[in-house]
Amino acid sequence: MFTLAIVGRPNVGKSTLFNRLVGKRLALVDDRPGVTRDRREGEGHLGDLTFTIVDTAGLEEADAASLEGRMRAQTEAAIRDADAILFMIDVRSGLTPTDRAFANVARRAGRPVILLANKSEGRRGAEAAAEAWELGLGTPVPLSAEHGEGLSDLYDAICDAL
Ligand code: GDP
Ligand code: MG
Repeated sequence: MFTLAIVGRPNVGKSTLFNRLVGKRLALVDDRPGVTRDRREGEGHLGDLTFTIVDTAGLEEADAASLEGRMRAQTEAAIRDADAILFMIDVRSGLTPTDRAFANVARRAGRPVILLANKSEGRRGAEAAAEAWELGLGTPVPLSAEHGEGLSDLYDAICDAL
């Protein structure tokens, strides 16, 4: 069995995807950024694939100065254990400096990275996802974790990455 880590800044939809792939509401989904306190691990399923999936946390109680460093440390730990990284951005909010910082961590990880352009549901989704090319992490996979759209493209991307 292989391991996937979902990484990205708070509130992009990591826990929503985790819950969808695990099929249980193991991870807390919340509108407040960084509400997932702990790293969570579950058995994920997608098509005929079975894998270990890791949801990384935000750290809402950290002060702004230490937040990025702590998220970075947690992300790096998750990446070390993963065979491939699901790096998630939110196309509705657009790219932020934090996305770019996380992308740098992911790019240097020496693991395959699948770039997930989440919140891409609806007509404008694919268009909004185009911005993600800037991160230099390859072809963005438009996805809607909440509505379950783009999962067959995610399946293909996982198969290609491994
Ligand atoms: P995390 O902090 O990255 O784990 O993000 P969450 O999974 O907790 O989601 C943050 C917010 O984004 C919640 O309000 C979710 O309902 C919402 N969300 C997650 N996926 C999608 C999506 O595909 N489309 C839209 N529109 N909202 C989403
Ligand atoms: Mg979360």
